Amino acid sequence: MTRQPAVFIGHGSPMNALESNRFTNRWREFAATLPMPRAIVTVSAHWYINATAVTAMQTPRTIHDFYGFPDELFAFDYPCPGSNEVAREVVDALAPVWVGLDTDSWGIDHGTWSVLAHMFPAADVPVLQVSIDATKSFTDHVALGASLAALQDANILVLGSGNVVHNLGRLAWNRPDSGEDWAHEFDDAARSIMTTDPASITNIVTHGAYSLAVPTPDHFIPLLYIAGAAAASGRGASTLVEGCSMGSLSMTSYVVD
Ligand code: ZN
Repeated sequence: MTRQPAVFIGHGSPMNALESNRFTNRWREFAATLPMPRAIVTVSAHWYINATAVTAMQTPRTIHDFYGFPDELFAFDYPCPGSNEVAREVVDALAPVWVGLDTDSWGIDHGTWSVLAHMFPAADVPVLQVSIDATKSFTDHVALGASLAALQDANILVLGSGNVVHNLGRLAWNRPDSGEDWAHEFDDAARSIMTTDPASITNIVTHGAYSLAVPTPDHFIPLLYIAGAAAASGRGASTLVEGCSMGSLSMTSYVVD
C-alpha cells in the first residue's frame, strides 16, 4: 500500500487559514506532491485533555476555538468526513495504550483546519484528531508518535500541528516574519535534533531558552509525535520550511518520509 509521510506543521496564528504567505504556500506546494491519502490523522495542540482519545464521528464539526478574530474566520467551515473504520485503526496502532472513542465532544479544531485548508482545500479526505493526554510525559508522547507511525504504511497521513516556539505573552505583531534571538536559538537547537537524532528531542528541556520558548507544553507536544515517527523510520526528519513569526512563534515544519 502507498506510504504517506508524517508531517509537523508550525501553524501560528489562526489567520493563516485565510492568508497566503511563505509558510502556507509551502504547506500547499508540499501536499500537492503527495498521493491522495486514505485518511489524515492529526495531533493538534488545541485538543489537550486528560486522556488519549480519537474522534470517531462521520461528520466532525469545525470548531472555532479562539476569540477576537474577524467574522470571516468564525464563518470558515472545513466540511471533511470522519471515519469510524480509521478510528479503530488508530486504537489498534496505539494499543496497549487505552484510546477513548470520542463520538460527540470534539471535532476538527483550528490547529487542524487552518493547516488542512491549504494542504487539502477540497476537504474530501477523512480527518481524525487524536487528543494530547496532558498527564503523559514527553517520553510517552514520543513513544505514541512511534506507534502512530504504523499508520503511514496504511496510506494515512500523520500530521502534528503546533509550534516549536510558542509564547503568546511575547508576541510582536509588528514583525510578522521574524523572531527574537532566543526564539531562533531554540528553534535551531530543535532542528539540529529533529534532523539528526529525533529520539533525543526530549533532551531539549535543558536548553537555556526552553522556558521562554515552551511556557506551556501544548504547542510543543505535537512535535514529539513526529519525532517519534522519525525515530521509528530510523532516519532524521527533513525541514519543510523554517522561520519565526511575530517574535515568539516558530513556524518551522518537518517531514518524515
Ligand atoms: Zn495554536
